[in-house]
Amino acid sequence: QAKSAGRNTLRFYDPQMQAVVNARVALEGDIRRGLAQQQFQLYYQVQVDGRGHTVGAEALLRWPHPQRGMVPPNEFIHLAEDTGLIIPLGHWVLQTACTQLRLWSLQTHTRHLTLAVNVSARQFRQPEFAESVLQVLQDTGAPAHLLKLELTESLLVNDVEDTIAKMHALKMHGVGFSLDDFGTGYSSLSYLKRLPLEQLKIDQSFVQDLLSDPNDAAIARTVIALGHSLGLAVIAEGVETALHQEFLALAGCDAYQGYLFGRPMPVQAFEDGLLSSPRAGTMGAATSLF
Ligand code: C2E
Ligand code: MG
Ligand code: MG
Ligand code: MG
Repeated sequence: QAKSAGRNTLRFYDPQMQAVVNARVALEGDIRRGLAQQQFQLYYQVQVDGRGHTVGAEALLRWPHPQRGMVPPNEFIHLAEDTGLIIPLGHWVLQTACTQLRLWSLQTHTRHLTLAVNVSARQFRQPEFAESVLQVLQDTGAPAHLLKLELTESLLVNDVEDTIAKMHALKMHGVGFSLDDFGTGYSSLSYLKRLPLEQLKIDQSFVQDLLSDPNDAAIARTVIALGHSLGLAVIAEGVETALHQEFLALAGCDAYQGYLFGRPMPVQAFEDGLLSSPRAGTMGAATSLF
């Protein structure tokens, strides 16, 4: 076949490939438009401590697309990173989250809540990343010590010196760091020790099969022990059942996030949930343990 195309003809055209390219170009245009037309939203998912008390939230990006319906972040974050659109998008997330955090910090029943914000590698690698976060904190009046940035392992191991410098610059002002999806990437233990983290987040893939897969159970237990021995708090994500939580609690886990306590939801619903159970998530079996 290739031969029949002739010696001087380069045949790259592949309709399937072309369709993928077209879809990406269309999605890129949509993200741009979505930003300009303020289509993006933040949802908030509750985080609870060992007693089931609400201690904070994670801000999760949502895109109610006018034609496609709700587009999940996993379907556009990657492209936003490739195209650099994650820079304005990530800035919008930070700005919006910190505006919310400021409001929470002013009300009695929400003033203690921390807010975790996901930061992508490309965003973090910008030379002015630390300054831009500090600027947003200043502009919004959000208390820095209630802001937690969620970083991933891949981000940390690239250019460790730069990573440490940026983290320290922000930590100096009180900003905290959590290591998201822990266990799924690659991180050297010697780096972990040097990074000014305050929390490890056990990836939900280990939590999912905790009770049926002995390997996942061992990993979860090990991550908790490792975190504690490094002086870090450990939070588990994807906690869907009371049994997940009981297992993790016995292993010494410090905090929990997952459908058992609440789904990610718009801010109004999140606040209503807080008021209806002011000092707890949906406690479920959590109470029976203590
Ligand atoms: P992540 O940061 O690890 O967030 C946790 C994901 O697990 C969220 O998916 C959340 O909705 C989901 N989740 C929470 N509890 C449960 C549970 O009990 N069971 C199950 N099955 N899932 C649960 P979501 O919102 O679709 O976000 C996916 C990923 O997209 C995030 O993973 C994060 O990596 C990225 N992302 C979301 N928002 C942002 C953002 O503002 N900026 C950046 N850079 N990335 C974001
Ligand atoms: Mg996260
Ligand atoms: Mg995660
Ligand atoms: Mg995850």
